[in-house]
Amino acid sequence: MVIARTPSDKRFAGSGLRVQLASGEISRISFCMVHVGIGYDVHALVAGRKLILGGVEIPHPNGLDGHSDADALMHAICDAILGALGEPDIGHFFPNTDVRWKNAPSKVFLQEAAAQVSKRGGKIVNVDATVIAQAPKIFPHIAKMKGNIAAALAVSEKQVGIKATTNEGLGFAGREEGIAAMAVAAVDLQ
Ligand code: MG
Repeated sequence: MVIARTPSDKRFAGSGLRVQLASGEISRISFCMVHVGIGYDVHALVAGRKLILGGVEIPHPNGLDGHSDADALMHAICDAILGALGEPDIGHFFPNTDVRWKNAPSKVFLQEAAAQVSKRGGKIVNVDATVIAQAPKIFPHIAKMKGNIAAALAVSEKQVGIKATTNEGLGFAGREEGIAAMAVAAVDLQ
């Protein structure tokens, strides 16, 4: 039995340890066991492909090359979630040698990552990502990306952070040879 110091400790009430509030009321306190994961992905920009990021088709002369739709943002988030679970990367679950994933929409990968969390009785706390692209401008598409990613993960848009930066003209991203994305995910595995 734990004595809560203030009535505000009731905010922790849920399933778990029984607590006695200062008022004498018995409540339950829940704990979370947050695991974090990190993800990174990059795809080359080539002619003749659609540019899809965060499930949004963005008008651009070049698109990202890859076996699936090459959505580097969704792939990075997927790896971050899998990393939080201690699982291997996205390629383990969806090998690029499998014709089923040829040009597949990357939301299916996010759905699988979310399913892996659910399988363990866990919950996604939040994901946060940064897209590194010299061009095109990502900001106008972020709201829609958030909606797509939240829907695929079955979480609120408030649990999804997306930011974008150029690479100041430096490196492969700066030369517009490719687009990269990095992400972190926090998963409550209780
Ligand atoms: Mg990828």
